[in-house]
Amino acid sequence: MIPSRSEPEARSVDPHDIDVLIVGCGAAGLSAAVSAKEQDPAANVVVLERSTRNERGGNTRWSSAYFRMTEELRPADGFDEDFAAFTGGAADPAYVSRLRELSTETLRWLESHGVRFEMVPMFFLTARKPRLGIAGGGAAIVDTLGRVAEGLGVEFRYETTVDGLLTSGAGSERQVTGVHYTDRDGRRGELRATAVLLASGGYEGNVELMRRSFGENAEFMKPVARGGSFNQGELIESAIDIGAARAGEWGNFHGEPVDPRSHMPEAVVMTFPYGILVNADGERFVDEASGTVDEIYEEVCRSIFRQPGNIAYLIADQRLLEIPDFDRATLTDQNPYQAESLEHLAKVLDVDARALTSTVDAYNRAVQPGEPGFDHTAADGLCTIGLQPPKSNWARAVVGAPFVAIPIATAVCFTFGGVAVDQESRVLTEDGMWIRGLWAAGEMTGVYHRKYPGATSVLRSLVFGRVAARGAMLAGRAV
Ligand SMILES: Cc1cc2nc3c(=O)[nH]c(=O)nc-3n(C[C@H](O)[C@H](O)[C@H](O)COP(=O)(O)OP(=O)(O)OC[C@H]3O[C@@H](n4cnc5c(N)ncnc54)[C@H](O)[C@@H]3O)c2cc1C
Repeated sequence: MIPSRSEPEARSVDPHDIDVLIVGCGAAGLSAAVSAKEQDPAANVVVLERSTRNERGGNTRWSSAYFRMTEELRPADGFDEDFAAFTGGAADPAYVSRLRELSTETLRWLESHGVRFEMVPMFFLTARKPRLGIAGGGAAIVDTLGRVAEGLGVEFRYETTVDGLLTSGAGSERQVTGVHYTDRDGRRGELRATAVLLASGGYEGNVELMRRSFGENAEFMKPVARGGSFNQGELIESAIDIGAARAGEWGNFHGEPVDPRSHMPEAVVMTFPYGILVNADGERFVDEASGTVDEIYEEVCRSIFRQPGNIAYLIADQRLLEIPDFDRATLTDQNPYQAESLEHLAKVLDVDARALTSTVDAYNRAVQPGEPGFDHTAADGLCTIGLQPPKSNWARAVVGAPFVAIPIATAVCFTFGGVAVDQESRVLTEDGMWIRGLWAAGEMTGVYHRKYPGATSVLRSLVFGRVAARGAMLAGRAV
């Protein structure tokens, strides 16, 4: 654990009189910074950010920024019910209703600052409808709110890593009074503030913490885009260290199936249900198509993560590449491997040729003759017969050379474990008491369990960033 400090030692203490000190400038941190200044233009609001200005924005900068909302900026039907179903009832219903209640006004607020919404096609071939997104994706949120915050006089300090919390008092009297940090020249310093607001993301950039949470193979799992590497969880640990309760499912994460050869962000391969998946031993290990891809990809990712080296290969024949809109769902910039025989394909992949051939033979024998009713746009029920594990949909034989393979690894989008907050974004202890002076929003707060209800993470960062800023400003006025 990273040590948190009681009253600071006298060393390079900054003389600033800070009202709200925000750590991190993704969706949560920037919405908080702008909101704080909107409430009181005279407030002294400071944002400390690990990255350079160009790279600011963590995961948000790289995000597709889809929202679980309608074109009219209203929450999608069944918002709360889906949240409950996906998370197995473990997400705090009060938090979820607050998220829904504030979602429309938050997106209108974002729009009022110049962010433009549009309906964007999804990368699932079974999803017929586009989803609400943003022109320019998450980068547009970061650039727009960043500019607005600068215009309002928020002070940004880049290449500054916050590594712990300053506190005074003990037990229920404990209060967060500031942070300590390391600047770009390696100099350590401390800053005091009336309110500290943590918006520093999850820990998808910290292999050691992921290994502790998810077990072996964490060392083979990379963030789905480079922004995640800035999120290393120091402040989640620091907050826990001073008594914050954990929340969210610590053993889990939101993963995506990506082509590990690609250097593109979010190089997803969402066409895996149309072929078979084998591991590095040439064996199938999962039902590739137990439902539509949007329903099952998280589960399949977890299975891939448990395979040796976190690697699988999508094996198919040419018909995979002929599926309409294949490119919309396969976002890698790398060509599939192709070979005239399965033996040759196995050699290219460095997989045992006999194992791969026998896996494909067994699969082909289990496919229904004539492959009746294949329909790539819906769960077509074209299942294997008598095969373990089964393939429940889109089971077509792998027969026509050249054969095709695409490597797939699970990449971490964000981690589920974080600190507990209430509906006001106040950080709570195990006893449900607020740690005075401390707020948190976005990925670093735990809410998700089991399966991620898609297109809710940017939304909750924006909504609760603003909620936290309101609370922090009110607390400042009360002092
Ligand atoms: C490729 C991709 C696609 C996605 N698509 C979607 C989508 O369509 N819809 C959706 O809802 N979600 C999506 N997500 C997830 C979503 O973008 C993020 O979960 C959300 O934006 C996180 O916002 P945040 O403000 O909590 O954290 P971030 O945006 O990650 O910001 C955290 C900031 O804190 C900084 N920081 C971290 N530690 C420190 C420290 N110790 N000191 C100082 N600064 C620090 C980081 O540098 C970073 O700037 C996607 C994510 C990715 C990567």
